[in-house]
Amino acid sequence: MKTPERVTLEEFSRLRLDWIAAHCRDQEGFQVCRKCGGNLEIVGAYMSVHDPRFAEACAGSGKVLRLAIPFCPRCEAQPAQQGCIHEPAGAHLLGESDLDNYRDLFGPSFFTKGA
Ligand SMILES: [Zn+2]
Ligand SMILES: [Zn+2]
Repeated sequence: MKTPERVTLEEFSRLRLDWIAAHCRDQEGFQVCRKCGGNLEIVGAYMSVHDPRFAEACAGSGKVLRLAIPFCPRCEAQPAQQGCIHEPAGAHLLGESDLDNYRDLFGPSFFTKGA
C-alpha cells in the first residue's frame, strides 16, 4: 500500500485493514500476497502527527509515530518512508510504534532497512 498522508489514525487503520483484506491471503498463519503468493514486507514509516486545523499547511506537534506499511516487493513499489496523520493536538495515540503487531502478522520478512 502507499504510505498515506493527511488521514486520521482511524482512517489509517481502516485503509490498512482494507488493503490487507484486498491484497493478502492467509497462509499457515502469515499473510502473503494474494496476487503472486510471495511474502509481504513492511516499511516502518515515520508518520508526522499534524494538527487538522492547519490541514493544508501540514503543521503540527512535532510528534512522530512509527507505523507499519505493508507491501508486496514483487507487485508494487516500496512505500514512502514518511507520511502524516492528522489528529487533534493531545489526542490519545496508538503509541510510539505498532510494528510489533505487524511483524507477527507478516512473519519473518519484516523490512528492517532504515530502521
Ligand atoms: Zn505480490
Ligand atoms: Zn500532514
